[in-house]
Amino acid sequence: MDAVLYRFPEDPVTDCLFCRIVARQNPADIEYEDDAVLAFKDIYPKAPVHILIVPKRHLASIGEMTEADVDAVGRCLLAARRIGEAKGFGERGYRVNINTGPEGGQVVYHVHFHFTAGKRGSAGG
Ligand code: 5GP
Ligand code: ZN
Repeated sequence: MDAVLYRFPEDPVTDCLFCRIVARQNPADIEYEDDAVLAFKDIYPKAPVHILIVPKRHLASIGEMTEADVDAVGRCLLAARRIGEAKGFGERGYRVNINTGPEGGQVVYHVHFHFTAGKRGSAGG
């Protein structure tokens, strides 16, 4: 008999670190949530405020983005604006950064925006 492994989107078992955080299977310090987006503190902050903003639906990288992902990625940017305003950085400003691929410095292959704020030139990962 053929052994076939099926993997459904609702499969509760996933190797993706950020999918596990979205599913509350891994802990995280959550800063913002809506139906499409989750944002949580970066475990190794590179700025006084360093939050990762992720689409809840898995997308490995901007390098794999299609039209179907436009809304989810845009929703992450809207979340960045809301987080910035809620934390008092609306006027002062903040940085929103996406690392993409090996030479782009991407380590976790679930798209995430680095929201960094609180000092001039915060690099954002
Ligand atoms: P990348 O280099 O892929 O753009 O960024 C990955 C980010 O995820 C890094 O800034 C890293 O500190 C953060 N990170 C890695 N593992 C964890 C984790 O388990 N929890 C949280 N909250 N952040 C993580
Ligand atoms: Zn994922």
